[in-house]
Amino acid sequence: MGELAAPKTNLLGLTRSELEAFVAGMGEKPFRARQLMKWMYRRAVGDIEAMTDLGKDFRQRLAAVAEIRTPEVIVSQRSADGTRKWLLRLESGQAIEMVFIPEPGRGTLCISSQVGCTMDCTFCSTAQQGFNRNLDTAEIVGQVWLANRELGYSPDGDRVITNVVFMGMGEPLANYRNVVPAAEVMMDDLGLDLSRRRVTISTSGLVPQMIRIADETNVALAVSLHAPNDELRSELVPINRRHPIAELLDACWHYVEKQNARSVTFEYVMLDGVNDRPEHARQLVALLRGRPAKVNLIPFNPFPGTRYRRSNEEAIVRFRDLLIKGGVIATIRRTRGDDIDAACGQLVGRVNDRTTIRLGQKLVQVAVVQS
Ligand code: SAH
Repeated sequence: MGELAAPKTNLLGLTRSELEAFVAGMGEKPFRARQLMKWMYRRAVGDIEAMTDLGKDFRQRLAAVAEIRTPEVIVSQRSADGTRKWLLRLESGQAIEMVFIPEPGRGTLCISSQVGCTMDCTFCSTAQQGFNRNLDTAEIVGQVWLANRELGYSPDGDRVITNVVFMGMGEPLANYRNVVPAAEVMMDDLGLDLSRRRVTISTSGLVPQMIRIADETNVALAVSLHAPNDELRSELVPINRRHPIAELLDACWHYVEKQNARSVTFEYVMLDGVNDRPEHARQLVALLRGRPAKVNLIPFNPFPGTRYRRSNEEAIVRFRDLLIKGGVIATIRRTRGDDIDAACGQLVGRVNDRTTIRLGQKLVQVAVVQS
């Protein structure tokens, strides 16, 4: 039997300072790390051998211990409206999804931070899947790196991905340890070079971690509010029982102050007859008026087995108008990628079975996607 080779370090999992320490450990100067990052992120080169200015000897030694690995595309879909969705296979065999939403003047990539989720929000299809594990930093950065390639990124062309949102599967702040360094690589000018404020972490309301990101990072913050009072929010977003609305909002205002941010975005899913009545709009106004807040109303995206229905168009517009009249900035999120189930809360939502398929030489476990 052959010796088991130690797994190679995936360079996509290292921040700039970690990469500097890594090359220092090989007896190299810190500028080597910067050269490497330029190849990896500016030129989107994944093959160490091709990084010609690194020097042959260093390239060889590096290639023996490190490499650039991304999740693997299993299925790639394109919606009539241009939205793209990929089903990705992780090295562990599990599947996650990633979505790209092109809009005039910008392109938003929606990525996952966990396989499954523990938050158990009643209207979210990921919750039905249960929780499997946290993604590591390389798997998170690897999604953006891979998407750039899939979208035909070229160092001379226009930037395709301008925004990244952690609004795919999982609760990013429950995976703080890996999400924050990943966001750092995304915002690093030698990394993916996305401007700060264009990398958004969306949270269901993990208050202690919200306070930490305010103090330790400069990512943008979106908060899944979904209800204007504790009784209803505790039912829809169970973490509210631990961190009720008053505490959640305090953490938001702390973030705005610490970051000198313009506002926090509050996501509010529109559920027919549940949280979409005029009284809910009035309660929401009472919570947010005069505060640095924006409300984004998300029409509910149904999935098999759900007990909820999407609010009708009229109710959504009326709700928005009540917020605006009350002095709260509000917008309605246009639903994208409907025909490929790429909308919020539908990611890997249709997965409720797994099977093993043969991919090349490998046997892999994939989710069975019904539709
Ligand atoms: N866990 C994080 C990020 C993932 S979900 C969070 O809770 O914010 C991204 C957004 O989609 C959240 O606001 C979430 O509440 C919303 N969402 C989940 N399921 C949905 C559904 N079925 N229809 C519409 N929006 C949904």
